[in-house]
Amino acid sequence: MTSPPSNNAAGSDLAAVRGENSPPPCRVCGGRAYRPFALKNGFHLDRCQDCGLVQVTDDLSQVNLEDYYGQEFFEETYDWLQAPGSGRRKEYRKFHYRMGEIERLMPGKGTILDIGCSFGFFLDVARARGWQPVGVEIGAYAAKFARDELEIEVHVCDLLNAPLEEGRFDVITMWNVLEHLNDPLAEFRRINALLKPGGLIVFTTGDVDSYVRRIEGLRWRALIPPIHVANYNFNAIRRLFANTGFEVARRSVALPREALLQQLGVIGLFKALRLSDKMMIFGRKIASLPLP
Ligand SMILES: [Zn+2]
Repeated sequence: MTSPPSNNAAGSDLAAVRGENSPPPCRVCGGRAYRPFALKNGFHLDRCQDCGLVQVTDDLSQVNLEDYYGQEFFEETYDWLQAPGSGRRKEYRKFHYRMGEIERLMPGKGTILDIGCSFGFFLDVARARGWQPVGVEIGAYAAKFARDELEIEVHVCDLLNAPLEEGRFDVITMWNVLEHLNDPLAEFRRINALLKPGGLIVFTTGDVDSYVRRIEGLRWRALIPPIHVANYNFNAIRRLFANTGFEVARRSVALPREALLQQLGVIGLFKALRLSDKMMIFGRKIASLPLP
């Protein structure tokens, strides 16, 4: 895996800043060879030379992430709640489109788990299409809305601590969550255990090797350490799958207004040319793992 040429010009300076501390192993492949990628918000982002994952290599154990998650985190969604008009309708259209894509690979409707389900709008859509929805959400306010207003089963905890039965789910989804996960191998092992044989994991995440990111450089919206602890490319996702019992069933892109682009019949063009900085990945469970 080669790194894109941009953003690495300051590499030697960054190496000097890091000093004697040796970085921890790569979150996906365990490799220890890194190339400096960026210094942003006071954190080191380094690219694993083996799998291509760009990740924070500083010790985050003493970092209080709540200091970084401002109130603006759910701001957009708060707006929809206050005015459940066009913004929320667009969101529902997008989720109907995504469920349609999922149902092409998994036609028999079953149980679906959304990790980081926020206010539960995606699960509301899934239920309307005949699925049995379950959510996991660490934000108590959003989870309460999903439970009380939408009457969806939502567990207020992270995935590793969620009291869920193994082999319960046909599909597990994760919209813009992967980049927040400090230990993706542990999370994907749990996802594997929760899925039925042949079940699907479907997620979106930014593409650190996308044209958009290369053009925007360090201003790219998904380069926000330490809230995003890692930025993936497709190769890093393949390695994550290989290490946790999945294969890539389909690679697509996520787009603003993707439901509209689909209606206009041009979404295939955007996908073919990779004119998006966000990947949508469909993975199929092909092996069960021993629990860690
Ligand atoms: Zn790696």
